[in-house]
Amino acid sequence: MTTTHNLGYPRIGGRRELKFALEALWNGTSSEQVLQETAGGLRAQNWQEQAGLSLAPVGDFSLYDQVLDMSATLGNLPERANTREGSALDAYFRVARGRSPNDTACCSVHAGEMTKWFDTNYHYIVPEFNADTSFSLNADRILAQLAEARAQGINAKPVIIGPVTYLWLGKAKDESDRLQLLSKLLPVYSELLTKLAEAGAEWVQIDEPALVTELDADWKHAFILAYHELKTAPVKLLLTTYFGELRENLQLACELPVAGIHLDTISAGNEVARLADWLPPHKVLSLGVINGRNIWKTDLNATLDLLVPLKEKLGERLWLAPSCSLLHVPVDLESETTLDSEIRNWLAFARQKLHELNTLAKALDEGRESVAEELAANQNAIDSRRQSSRVHNPSVAKALKAVTPEHGQRKSPFSTRARLQQERLQLPAYPTTTIGSFPQTPEIRQVRKDFRQGNLSEQDYTARVHEEIAFCVAQQEALGLDVLVHGEAERNDMVEYFGEQLEGYVFSRFGWVQSYGSRCVKPPILFGDITRPRAMTVDWIKYAQSLTDKPLKGMLTGPVTILNWSFVRDDQPRKDTCLQLALAVREEVLDLEKAGVGIIQIDEAALREGLPLRQSDWNTYLDWAIEAFRISANGVRDVTQIHTHMCYSEFNDIIGAIARMDADVITIETSRSAMELLDAFRGFEYPNDIGPGVYDIHSPNIPQVEQVTNLMEQAAKRIPAERLWVNPDCGLKTRRWEEVVPALEAMVAAARELRAQS
Ligand code: GLN
Ligand code: ZN
Repeated sequence: MTTTHNLGYPRIGGRRELKFALEALWNGTSSEQVLQETAGGLRAQNWQEQAGLSLAPVGDFSLYDQVLDMSATLGNLPERANTREGSALDAYFRVARGRSPNDTACCSVHAGEMTKWFDTNYHYIVPEFNADTSFSLNADRILAQLAEARAQGINAKPVIIGPVTYLWLGKAKDESDRLQLLSKLLPVYSELLTKLAEAGAEWVQIDEPALVTELDADWKHAFILAYHELKTAPVKLLLTTYFGELRENLQLACELPVAGIHLDTISAGNEVARLADWLPPHKVLSLGVINGRNIWKTDLNATLDLLVPLKEKLGERLWLAPSCSLLHVPVDLESETTLDSEIRNWLAFARQKLHELNTLAKALDEGRESVAEELAANQNAIDSRRQSSRVHNPSVAKALKAVTPEHGQRKSPFSTRARLQQERLQLPAYPTTTIGSFPQTPEIRQVRKDFRQGNLSEQDYTARVHEEIAFCVAQQEALGLDVLVHGEAERNDMVEYFGEQLEGYVFSRFGWVQSYGSRCVKPPILFGDITRPRAMTVDWIKYAQSLTDKPLKGMLTGPVTILNWSFVRDDQPRKDTCLQLALAVREEVLDLEKAGVGIIQIDEAALREGLPLRQSDWNTYLDWAIEAFRISANGVRDVTQIHTHMCYSEFNDIIGAIARMDADVITIETSRSAMELLDAFRGFEYPNDIGPGVYDIHSPNIPQVEQVTNLMEQAAKRIPAERLWVNPDCGLKTRRWEEVVPALEAMVAAARELRAQS
């Protein structure tokens, strides 16, 4: 029998039960006990869903984050969390969020740093180290889950993060070499593995996705050291990699003394044959053949064509699984009762993916006839998607073919454009602006909801949004800002808003995916060729412009960000999808220009997120991503000013690509780094205008005038003052008007002071 297993299951719940239980505890309306009951219920349900597998994961369930869980298991929660009162769970949440439900303001500590889990949209809490970090085992959580699963009749396979990847994910707070901690860490892992074996585990899934990244000699050596020490543990280890190719680490991975290895064949399909050849004959090869990162049905027949010869070769040594944890996909397609039925038939969420896995295994073991019906239905769905005229639109293919480099090229160099734009816009020195959104009040959210649910007519809806825009414009005029925005009151989300208006997108109702802790995102589903049936923003922007003599900045989301925050097609390269989005955004840009809008901002908040895991692949991505942006933006006349915005603070390694975008103005997040990040721009001699954010919109603190002038003086040491703008770090939608008004007052006052001084 072919062994089937799963690497991890979504824990948030099909109706986000965990989210609501967590938030109830945090806001004091519930108890730890209620949370634990909800969590136990979700685990039981998840195992039930996975009961058909040979092995189901245990320990993948987390109340907040699996990396933080691993830190807790290894006795490596930061000291600052433990010295307070309360339960172990209090300490755990304190690291996650800076405070626990029972803490008063005085007791809060700073939260652990959060960062992206490899190239996914999931964020983990970064383990903290220093030279004298020590570890001690606290296996209660995982042992309890193991006992729980076994009591429910589940053939359980504990899941842990491997020692090398654990160190790799963390940060040394004192700049010490965290690899030095390996020798202290390994005995704790040995102890953990022994305990798991004693508790009945035969296999342990030990995740080492660091193996798909570029490793220097020390890190490679760490793998050898670690697994030679762990090989005496009384369990079988399944060394698990995902999210990429092993490449130069393939041989290393094959040679480690473990009982089996898991490969993500969705992203490393070309390595299957080599691995099957090289792997010593006593080792299991687990192939991740079902995509754990997207929502499409697997082509089961095509997958079987690949698997059948491997099965002949490997026999019982061949295991099947999803490519990675299913954490990155929504729970259950069955809930999507209102989704377009044609498209729904092409999709599979976590539950459906496990079903596919069982079908594949059965076909391998008992022949395709044994699952003839499932295979036929799957083939129908695959064919329907492949042939659908809703996916393939010849006019889009034609438009794509007609794209030339000229499409991405401004007519004149920046210096010429800047002069023409200044003649038109007549802006003062240190022009002030904002990033686009203004506070999203409960009232305006309700207006959108009422309209969506059909309780508000289109006419009334427009009138209410106009009211909001008028209020927003009046506020900005009163504040004395130089470049105004309409405020984005009509937008629920910067990607969804555009997806909803483009052909080629559908939206799920419950397609939530955990982003961090209790936070989830519901990525729109890009299924087909992208077209823009009508203008998406022009009426709102035109209305806003009609209310003021000041220049008004039109606001769009860029193609790369739309791509990176959506579930996208797997039947063509991401690059092609991005280019289609770029053409749609370009049409919108040109329509805005035609409507007389003199400044257009194209946000690329997620450009950096799309960077591949290996630096050697970066240029390929940046080449097409930047080209897509250029095509979306650069069809305008010289007098039209293009802005872009990016809300992160790492530019050093991509500054060349950022410069190639050739936006007239870029606004970025800088306030927390005291303008130091502008060094990257100075070092590169970045040629165009820059708006370094002068206050952190994530914090309710209201900046003082002096703080802003100080920051701008720091900025002016790095970038010539005539190329500087003054603006917040990011959009203001999460703030309240009571915070925004004084903050912007300070910002405008600071700009005036700077002008007076210069
Ligand atoms: N224009 C968007 C806003 O202001 C930008 C958001 C973002 O960068 N994440 O909300
Ligand atoms: Zn931003």
